[in-house]
Amino acid sequence: MYKRIPKQFINAPVDRVNIVDYMNQYATLKQVGQRGELRAKCPLPSQKDDTPSFYVNEHKQTYVCHGCGSGGGIVTFLGDMHGYEFFPTIEELADFMSLQIPYESSQKGNFNSYSDIYKTIYNTAKAENTDRLQ
Ligand SMILES: [Zn+2]
Repeated sequence: MYKRIPKQFINAPVDRVNIVDYMNQYATLKQVGQRGELRAKCPLPSQKDDTPSFYVNEHKQTYVCHGCGSGGGIVTFLGDMHGYEFFPTIEELADFMSLQIPYESSQKGNFNSYSDIYKTIYNTAKAENTDRLQ
């Protein structure tokens, strides 16, 4: 049996989290300027120098580090911070915001309905067609 995160839930933690709230666990973010920009020493494990070259934009929900070159949104941050791939990222953010993930259980190769079977056949065919075009 596999635990599966329902499709309609996947974006919820990423959409709802405030990148600044999450990063405050790891970095001391200080406001610079008036447009929601903050700065801190880089909290990422790959960071070597000790200067505050880690910038966060709260309005855009993005960050960039001029020390180690990391930058992007919350998903990239969790990847660089914890080495997480996409699904552990969703679980971590849901946990951070106390959101309950409505897991579905599924068994590989065990289809519930004809519509699932149809979708699988369709996707397989599509993948094969894509292969052929390359
Ligand atoms: Zn850095």
